[in-house]
Amino acid sequence: MSGVDVRGLPEDEQAIVEAVATWVDREVRPRAGDLERAQEYPHALIDQMKEMGVFGLAVPGRWSESAVSTRCFALVTEQLARGWMSLAGAIGGHSVVALMLARYGTPEQQERWLPRMATGEVRAAMALTEPSGGSDLQDIRTRAVRDGSGSDAEYVVDGSKTWITNARHAGLIATLVKTDPQASPRHSGISILLVEPGQVEVSRDLPKLGYRGVESCELSFAGSRVPAGNLLGGEEGQGFAHFMSGLELGRVQVAARAVGVGQAALDDALAYAQQRETFGKPIWEHQSVGNLLADMATKVHASRLLVLDAAAGIDAGRRSDLEAGMAKLFASEACMQVALDAMRIHGAAGYSAELDIERYFRDAPLMIVGEGTNEIQRNVIVRRLVERDRES
Ligand SMILES: Cc1cc2nc3c(=O)[nH]c(=O)nc-3n(C[C@H](O)[C@H](O)[C@H](O)COP(=O)(O)OP(=O)(O)OC[C@H]3O[C@@H](n4cnc5c(N)ncnc54)[C@H](O)[C@@H]3O)c2cc1C
Repeated sequence: MSGVDVRGLPEDEQAIVEAVATWVDREVRPRAGDLERAQEYPHALIDQMKEMGVFGLAVPGRWSESAVSTRCFALVTEQLARGWMSLAGAIGGHSVVALMLARYGTPEQQERWLPRMATGEVRAAMALTEPSGGSDLQDIRTRAVRDGSGSDAEYVVDGSKTWITNARHAGLIATLVKTDPQASPRHSGISILLVEPGQVEVSRDLPKLGYRGVESCELSFAGSRVPAGNLLGGEEGQGFAHFMSGLELGRVQVAARAVGVGQAALDDALAYAQQRETFGKPIWEHQSVGNLLADMATKVHASRLLVLDAAAGIDAGRRSDLEAGMAKLFASEACMQVALDAMRIHGAAGYSAELDIERYFRDAPLMIVGEGTNEIQRNVIVRRLVERDRES
């Protein structure tokens, strides 16, 4: 077990991170390669995650017996990703949706879904991206038109979403829709519908480079009917702001995944560099390889500190889009570089599909693209820097 840094957490949260780390070493790392090659949903591991309370970590204590701080949630995410990034992905969108429900849901919506989300009985996905684009979310085309009034009112939904992770196994899909396409500013015409199985067609699983085992799907709405009671918060026009506030946690979660994959790549490279000998000595003693390892360890450590800093901001109730954006940007780029350098250190063995190294290399780019690309993170960071500068 390595890479577990629980300093600063209360004892009970330390125990949770350590228990997950031990489980990852015992149950996940030995079989992640086979599971991902099979490209099947990891039902058994997901069931064990449910038993450990992992799906309830980011659900507030009012509804969850396993609620923890965001710092603890990030460290658990890191441990899951150290074993297999796809497992950390299974709690990513789920946790963002739980947070949005806890912050903005009506009391009825909260009681209906949050207790079952805390146990993992209901797992949630979030559907923002559309075939026409994922960066400019105010330009979404999926349309929801209210039909009827009172308790029988429904939304009639038309449009499509793409790259929606966990969609096939989700009991709830928080879906970004346009309720008023003419609204100005554009974001004031956007709402979130809490879509349940049977209300949308999950039309296709997309083939992908990495992040296998959990599915990323196309969704098709064709006159689909969703009860008006499933409008998050019960008020139209709030969806964009709600998602943006939830994405702070999402970006910390994606950054924590990058730390986990980076740590796994570093661990494997460090072990290999001590076993493999060339020119009569272990390869870490060649300065070029030693320098790579030193830089890799520094990048992973710096990434973890940025993640914990952003998580601490969320725990303190501070607006943390700047810190979350920085953590996501830095940790994902560092992870990609560390995964490549781990492959370099392994020579041909790093290219073998029989070792985990090539999986880290295939999983790393998701963290650069997902939860807002790194180009979008830079836009968020600089906008916030200027705002803060003007405020001071
Ligand atoms: C494996 C995987 C899983 C995913 N899971 C989900 C999910 O569960 N739910 C979900 O909603 N989405 C999901 N996504 C989608 C992801 O969020 C989007 O791919 C991402 O937001 C980018 O959108 P896009 O692919 O449409 O790229 P585009 O928006 O078309 O952007 C294309 C390129 O242009 C750049 N660009 C665009 N606008 C700007 C700008 N203003 N300034 C600078 N550069 C810009 C982008 O950075 C990118 O490099 C997933 C994606 C992948 C690959």
